[in-house]
Formats: sequence, structure tokens, C-alpha cells
Amino acid sequence: MNIQEKVEAYLGKTVAAASDKEIYGALLSVVQEMAAEKERTDSRKKLYYISAEFLIGKLLSNNMINLGIYEEVKEMLEKNGKDICEIEEAEPEPSLGNGGLGRLAACFLDSIATLGLAGDGIGLNYHLGLFKQEFEDHLQKETPNPWIEEKSWLKKTDVTYPVSFKGLNVSARMYDIEVTGYNNKTNKLHLFDLDSVDETIVEDGIDFNKEDIEKNLTLFLYPDDSDEQGRLLRIYQQYFMVSSGAQLILDECTAKGCTLYDLPDYAVIQINDTHPTMVIPELIRLLMERGMDMDDAIDVVSRTCAYTNHTILAEALEKWPVDYLKKVVPQLVPIIEVLDDKVRRKYEDESVAIIDRNDTVHMAHIDIHYGFSVNGVAALHTEILKDSELNNFYRIYPEKFNNKTNGITFRRWLIHCNPRLSAFLDRTIGEGYKKDAAELEKLLKYKDDEKVLNELLAIKYENKKDLCTYLKATQGIEISPDTIFDIQVKRLHEYKRQQLNALYIIDKYLEIKAGKIPSAPVTAIFGAKAAPAYVIAKDIIHLILCLQELINNDPEVNKYLRVVMVENYNVTKAGKLIPACDISEQISLASKEASGTGNMKFMLNGAVTLGTEDGANVEIHEAVGDDNIFVFGASSSEVIEHYAKADYVAKDYYEENEAIKAAVDFITSDEMLAIGCEENLARLQKELIGKDWFMTLLDFDSYKETKEKALAAYADRKVWAKMALVNIAKAGFFSSDRTIEEYNRDIWHL
Ligand SMILES: *Cc1c(COP(=O)(O)O)cnc(C)c1O
Repeated sequence: MNIQEKVEAYLGKTVAAASDKEIYGALLSVVQEMAAEKERTDSRKKLYYISAEFLIGKLLSNNMINLGIYEEVKEMLEKNGKDICEIEEAEPEPSLGNGGLGRLAACFLDSIATLGLAGDGIGLNYHLGLFKQEFEDHLQKETPNPWIEEKSWLKKTDVTYPVSFKGLNVSARMYDIEVTGYNNKTNKLHLFDLDSVDETIVEDGIDFNKEDIEKNLTLFLYPDDSDEQGRLLRIYQQYFMVSSGAQLILDECTAKGCTLYDLPDYAVIQINDTHPTMVIPELIRLLMERGMDMDDAIDVVSRTCAYTNHTILAEALEKWPVDYLKKVVPQLVPIIEVLDDKVRRKYEDESVAIIDRNDTVHMAHIDIHYGFSVNGVAALHTEILKDSELNNFYRIYPEKFNNKTNGITFRRWLIHCNPRLSAFLDRTIGEGYKKDAAELEKLLKYKDDEKVLNELLAIKYENKKDLCTYLKATQGIEISPDTIFDIQVKRLHEYKRQQLNALYIIDKYLEIKAGKIPSAPVTAIFGAKAAPAYVIAKDIIHLILCLQELINNDPEVNKYLRVVMVENYNVTKAGKLIPACDISEQISLASKEASGTGNMKFMLNGAVTLGTEDGANVEIHEAVGDDNIFVFGASSSEVIEHYAKADYVAKDYYEENEAIKAAVDFITSDEMLAIGCEENLARLQKELIGKDWFMTLLDFDSYKETKEKALAAYADRKVWAKMALVNIAKAGFFSSDRTIEEYNRDIWHL
């Protein structure tokens, strides 16, 4: 049967007569069938990548690319008067992650399968995922994002595991999603769920009864943890995930002949951030239940588990009061107490204890003491972990610490999202880069080739036109492809400093109003979700939406400057925005962004980075050289020193710098108050002057000066195209295939 016959067999009618949704459903079935045929036979040792988030995005097109049928399907659809892009629209996006951390896990699964490694994901099947963002009165409003339909990538299995909480026993059911490798075998993503979860308990927006665990356990991703009920629910979720996962791992290993004493020969467990940390005491508990003595169990588990640290923000390193654990998983508490006791007997240093003097459990400390590897996610990040944040641990276990600079899968972030660029690469340097990303360097040969440079510019222009059409259709916003597309899309967080970009926009607005006409028109594009309980982050969204309203409707200004806040930024939107970008804004306060992966996606798609020396920006800078990136701002060591000395005073910058004062004052100007809400705007303004924990004002001058340079450089189209070319050519290092090869070489040994 050819593809059309296969699809029509599922449809029960012709492709031409079917709706987009029906075709999507039929293609899904065809893909699932093909993927299942490529399922891997189990090898002795297997990786389990356990993560509370897998931000996989839509799967149809990526799976078709990986299975090698994308072009064939596209042509078949065209022949029948259908457009593959419209079919893609029919697929809902599973939002099983917040941002970078979850997206990394998804890129890793793709690369693990592509490299032919035996490695499955373990996570949770959130019915409503991360909230959907809507804008109303220039404010973020959250609504549920149901993504599970009758036809879905989830395959219900009959595998179930008992999971016990205090006073509640439930049965976890396993669902599987096939993870296709590019021209290779298929792995699995195992997502655990509870049959009794009830979507109808959702009330207004994303509110629900947080106490009814049987109905809410896997309802949402990371429910609001601003109150105790929310925090307890997170512990329920985490334990549910790790207990089911641990039982699955032990089952699979024993089925292959593992005695449990040789578990490290059969399994390696990569713990993605601290959320799955309880897998360590849970595995110890399960091994003891199966007859192993405790010291042996601790030894076996310690040689099986490895930990990835994703952040140095203190507030993000999870700590649970022992009392919370007693309320949810009392069976783990004595084990954690023994783990703490062993540490305390060996090391006097209070800072490396697991249970601190306030009876709080430091989850990362469990991972570091009882895992065999601790890795950071970019060179700078790992150095900061070793030198400061985790220095006391590094001095105990120098051999455990290692760096694995993050990466992205080129199948999604180039081949799928930017077919024009990928076709251009195919005909210019051949298709080898799809399997060996280092081959992108072949492009360097053409860096002075006028024809190639013009082609790159033409591709970017077409991509920008597509984005214009998309934004007009989805949000009714009109922008021009003849302006510079300056894009900052990522979660909204103060450390990522969208507020710095917003202050620059205000400064620019004031300059234009004062008659200073910019040399090139700019469209500033944002996309960002704020955590529902993160007040200042929501105020920053409000500021940007008010600026959008003010600036885009001012005929004096909108010829030179426009602002767009894209609603509900997610993987699908990222795929449309990134190929159209000229300037990639990566402006976190140095030392705060562990790696970033958005920066890599933009680079790969020929955008030029405007960024601080932070996270993987440092490595991007090294790769492309000074001439092909715009770097600004205080260095990480300067920032760390400011924190140590507590000598940064935002108010001094506000009072002594005229442009800063004018921009900050403008936040509560009459023009702004006519559009926005005084409470939000005044609160944000007060925060910037009175605290500014992430030192926005410190870097303002440097940001403005460097951004002006970048905008000016854009005018020389040939020079700019060359910069874009070098960025693409040097992006090979940032393929997640490279990252995964390093994990396997240094940690997993599959
Ligand atoms: C890549 C990605 C991120 C991470 O972006 P950063 O700029 O690295 O924070 C977040 N959300 C989505 C949808 C992404 O695709």
C-alpha cells in the first residue's frame, strides 16, 4: 500500500473528501503503526530519563520527518488539494512543560532515539497541561488547555502500579507515546496517570479543589504552589511519578535477569532537576521491600542515579518541610532521615546536610550525595556551581561534577520549522548536517559568496512575511517585514529581564516623540507566559501590552517602532517566530540563566544574538567570534560581587541617569494610565526603583548602546547576511545529538 492508500484505509473515504481533522487522525494512526514497527528490542542496559516535564510540542510532522515520509505525505496531500500546514493546525499542542527545562527533555528524547540509544522517558500525563494564556484588558488570563482527544498520541497500556500515600492507595496507569528517532528506532515516553482524575472539577479559569487528590492528581502541570495545598499537591504528583517509574524500572530490569544487586548494569536514571528526587529514597524503599538490606540498597541506588542541575536561583532549589512529607509520603521519611544521618556522621558542614535545622529537606542535596554524577547545563553554569553555589559539595565530590552544555534537536528547530533554510542547506552543503550537525561548518566556505548571502536574506524575508500573515490572522496585528524583527520569547521572569527590553522601548518612544527619528524601523516582538502567582511577572506583561496599545496606535511613532506581544507562547508559536527573527534577545542578568536553549534555536535559524555573557551565550560568543554577536552588560563575576557586597542600589541609577529616570517615570505617565491599570504599573515602577533584584538599571546604558550598534549593523545587508551565515555555520555544537553523545560517553555508558 502506498501512503495514500494507507491513509484512506483509516479514513474510510478519500483524502480529497476528508476534513483536516480526519486526515490528521488518519495520519496519526499511520505514523503510530510505522513507529511501532521500529520499536527497539531491549538491550541489557537502558537509560530512564525521568522528568516532571516533557514539552514535546505537536508530534505529527516531526514524526513524519523522523520516519522519512514527510515529503511523500506533503505531496500526496497537495495532489488531493490539501495543505500540510492546515493539517498541522488540527493537532492540539500537548503542553506538558513550562519552558526550557521541559523542552530540553523533549529534545533529548529525540536525540536519544536518533542516536539509536536505548532510553525511555518517564513522566506524568497532565490532562490540562500548562495553562493557556489569553490577554484581556492588557492582562494575562489563564484558561485550561485540554489536549487529549479521542485520537491522540497516547497509547493506554494495561500496565498499572500501586502507589500509596498517607491514607490513600491509588493505582497508576501507564500511557505510552512513541518517540521516533530520525532514520532510526523508536523509544518510548511513559506517562503515568490516574483513571479517576476528573476534568469537570475545574472551576473558573484554572481554579480547582486542590484537596481532592483522586480527582486532581494529574489534572494540571505544577499547580499554583503559592499556598500549602498547592505545595502538597506537588509532592503527591512527584511521588506518584517516581513510585510508578521506580516500579517500572525494577520490573523491566528483573525481567532481563537483573538480581537487583547489579541494577547499575541494567539501568541508569537521569534525574532532570530536583522534581524527581524522591526516586532515590523510593528505590531504596522498594529494594528493601524486596529483601535487600539498607546499606546495600543505598549503594545500588547511588550507583544508578545521576542528577542534572538546571538553576542557581536559590528560590528554585526545592526544599520540602519534613512535615509536608509526613502528610503525604510518611514511608519515605525514615529513609530520608537515615540518608541525612549518614551525611551528618561523615561531614560536619551544616550546609551539606539533607535535613536542615528547620526540619526542611533539601532535595538537591539528596541528589548530590546519593547520585554518582552532578551536571550543569552550560560551561559557565557548571563553573558557578563548582565555585560558588555548590562549592561545599564540589570540595567533597570533585569527581561527580561535570558539564553538559544543552542542545536542541535540529529535526524540529531547523528541518521542520524552517523548510526554506533547510532546503537551501541541502542544495548548498548537502544533507549530511542532518545526522552530523558539525557539517554545517561547510557553509563557511560561502561567507563571501554574494549569491549565497542574497539567498539567505531572501529566505529570512519570506519567513518574516509568513510571520506577518500569521500574526494578522491570529491576533489581528499588522507589522511589516521591512522592519527589523527583534524578538524576545521565553518564560516571563525578572532574571530574564523583559523589563529591560521594555525600558528600551519606552526610551525609543520618548526619543521619537522628541523628534529623534531612528535610522531603521524596528518591530519588537515578545512572547511569554508568567506563572499564575508571580505578581511582578504579570505586571511586566501588563506593561508590554500597554506599550503595544500606545505605540502601535500612535501614527507619529508606529512608522518606526511597533510592539507585539504574542499570545500563548508555546512550541508551535516558537516554530513560527524563530525562523523570522533578525535579532535574538538573550538579555538575562549574567550568572542567572543556566544555559538557555532559545538562544541556540535563534542562532541556528540565522538570527544574530544581542546578549549578556550568560549561560550558553558565552559559548555562542566563543563559537561565532566577536564580529558575529552583540554582547553587553556586567559580567557574571561583577554581578556575583555585587550580590556578595550588596552594593547595587537601583535608586542611584534612577536618580543619576536622565534616560533611565525618564523611562521609569513613564511607566506611570498619564498616557500609560489612560490605557493600563495604576496598581500594576505603580507596583512595577516601585520594584524597579526600590529593589531591582536583577539589576536592570545597571545594564541599561550598555544595553542601549549595544542595541543601537546592532540596529545600525542591520543596514549593511551584506555584512548582516554574513553574520547570519556564520551563526548558522557555527550552530552545530548546539545540536542535542552532541549533548546526548556526551551524556552517554561520560555518564550513561549505554
Ligand atoms: C526553547 C523554548 C523555551 C526556552 O527558551 P529560553 O529562551 O531558553 O528560556 C521556552 N519555551 C518554549 C516554548 C521553547 O520552545
